[in-house]
Amino acid sequence: MSDAKYPIRGACQCGGVQYQLLSAPKMIVACHCKECQKLSTSAFSITAMVDKEQLLIEGEMADWRRGSDSGNVSAAKFCVTCGNRIYHFDPAKPDLLKLKPSTLEDTSIIQPTAHIWVSEKQDWYEIPAGMTVFQGQS
Ligand SMILES: [Zn+2]
Ligand SMILES: [Zn+2]
Repeated sequence: MSDAKYPIRGACQCGGVQYQLLSAPKMIVACHCKECQKLSTSAFSITAMVDKEQLLIEGEMADWRRGSDSGNVSAAKFCVTCGNRIYHFDPAKPDLLKLKPSTLEDTSIIQPTAHIWVSEKQDWYEIPAGMTVFQGQS
């Protein structure tokens, strides 16, 4: 973990949604599933697990939800203007938010320790040594 100073501010691409992350995430995970490839327009997405009270958010967001391969519902919150995804959550566990941390001002804290859904990973991406790896959700 880096020695970052909290709170760290974050914002969507247009600035319509602003937030503060008050303390370090509980865990940071890289997900290689096909849905996350679509979402991130990249090879994987990054998720920071944070308690709901660790995030102070201002601005108007819309939401959308879908079922996931693990059988849970994934609900997403995003900026109504630019569409930038801010966080996901499971409506059955609304106190645990899955922040999309690339919206933070200081992205040096984004250091995944686990990679999930590696069964769907792009062949050209090599997982760094020392990571916890799961073929599926966990
Ligand atoms: Zn925006
Ligand atoms: Zn995923």
